[in-house]
Amino acid sequence: MTADNHLIVCPNCRAINRVISGREAEATCGKCKSKVFEPQPLELVGATFDRHIAKNEIPVLVDFYSPSCGPCLMMGPQFDDAAKQLHPQVRLAKIDTTMEQAIAGRFGIQAVPTLALFKGGKEVARQPGAMNAQQIVSWARQYI
Ligand code: ZN
Repeated sequence: MTADNHLIVCPNCRAINRVISGREAEATCGKCKSKVFEPQPLELVGATFDRHIAKNEIPVLVDFYSPSCGPCLMMGPQFDDAAKQLHPQVRLAKIDTTMEQAIAGRFGIQAVPTLALFKGGKEVARQPGAMNAQQIVSWARQYI
């Protein structure tokens, strides 16, 4: 990353785009013309997860959840709201741990929901348990 631009993975086609700082919200993908940074969580699976974690030069906040967990379902709309508040500084993403057991195992996810923040391909913070939107935003901002 340099001071005036950074790489962002397209949520639609996964092309890597170099985006000028301050233009994250407007930038469109050079390959598919989608917006490279939407203010909503991305649902990721195995291959897309690895690419977004490894290639994004923006922080990626991941919600490891299960669709059958009550607290996860309660946190869902809060996470959506946090995505709007953290836009365009942090990409928010979701991993369904019942579908993506290999990823959950690789990261040693013991409970859902668990939030993990990644920067430059490395996990920098982790927080198990449901939070509301404001708590999610405050927690993430400590590390970005
Ligand atoms: Zn694209």
